[in-house]
Amino acid sequence: MDKAQYKNVYVFVEQREGVIQNVGLELLGKARELADALNEKVYAMLLGHDLTTQAQECIAYGADTVLRVDAPELATYVTEPYAQAIYQIIRDNKPSIVLIGATTIGRDLGPRLSARVETGLTADCTGLEISEDRDLLMTRPAFGGNLMATIICKEHRPQMSTVRPGVMRMGQRDDNRKGTIEDVKINFDKSKFRVRVLETVKQTKNLVDITEAHVLISGGRGVGNAEGFDMLRAMANTIGAEVSASRAMVDAGVLGHERQVGQTGKTVRPDLYFAMGISGAIQHLAGMEESEYIIAINKDKFAPIFNVADLGIVGDVRKIVPLLTEKLKR
Ligand SMILES: Cc1cc2nc3c(=O)[nH]c(=O)nc-3n(C[C@H](O)[C@H](O)[C@H](O)COP(=O)(O)OP(=O)(O)OC[C@H]3O[C@@H](n4cnc5c(N)ncnc54)[C@H](O)[C@@H]3O)c2cc1C
Repeated sequence: MDKAQYKNVYVFVEQREGVIQNVGLELLGKARELADALNEKVYAMLLGHDLTTQAQECIAYGADTVLRVDAPELATYVTEPYAQAIYQIIRDNKPSIVLIGATTIGRDLGPRLSARVETGLTADCTGLEISEDRDLLMTRPAFGGNLMATIICKEHRPQMSTVRPGVMRMGQRDDNRKGTIEDVKINFDKSKFRVRVLETVKQTKNLVDITEAHVLISGGRGVGNAEGFDMLRAMANTIGAEVSASRAMVDAGVLGHERQVGQTGKTVRPDLYFAMGISGAIQHLAGMEESEYIIAINKDKFAPIFNVADLGIVGDVRKIVPLLTEKLKR
């Protein structure tokens, strides 16, 4: 394989019902950095049906060219048509790097594509950089998060990786940026379409997205039980925050998995993160240490959470939180 034939950084920009997912914009920002380091271009792959202004949005967030595929087959996400479309783009354009958001859609699409184009895929990367040899250095937690592994795909192209939402910082939107939009026609092989969406039933349960919260009050085993979390909710209500948790409390059934922070939960980056009775295991830190300001309350002054906290309070969370809530109310 002649590596020199492969160039430019491609991002699969996921949209759902016409709304570009934040992770797509975050990846465009990262792609911009990588492409600038390589002196190459950023391409957004935008797939869907009846698309409107999404391509301009991709340009505003860093794309040089948007490859837009607007087809009825892509109206809702189904693996095969999406995989065929992106496969054709990769085959015809030979990108050097392909980035995909590690959403449920991206996690489905990534491995299928990497198998089809016969390259590797590094999932859930937390760091992406260009090496002196112009290879992509893909860093991700390994061995249960106890060490960080940097993976290089030396022999195959494209170099593919998925990145979870919230891990990369979104760039500034610039509506004056100029770029080109190319409409791409895909020759679908419909004989391979084995799944049809007959109906979409939306879950009515009110699922929160803790990655969007500006203030998070997160509870761990030190908060104890459901009653302890009522105390956190009361505090959250006074300051318009959301409640989240460590895995210990999610495993205990106190909160749903959608509120778990950490390596196997969500990666959050709020303006303010309260770690209440959380020890600060490496798998928890992986999901919150990029928060702007961290306040930790823990009765153990040696708890590792204090190593990442901007403000630490040594004491009993069950005594401090009600006092704090009273003060905040006032
Ligand atoms: C592969 C893998 C993936 C994982 N993924 C995640 C993940 O995504 N998210 C995650 O959170 N964990 C994850 N974990 C688990 C992680 O290793 C820890 O076990 C977990 O984070 C511990 O949760 P905790 O801090 O709530 O509990 P503990 O570690 O038990 O800590 C409780 C803390 O509360 C303090 N405390 C106790 N009582 C009080 C009190 N009254 N007042 C104040 N402080 C008090 C204690 O001093 C202690 O520091 C993962 C583990 C593995 C192996």
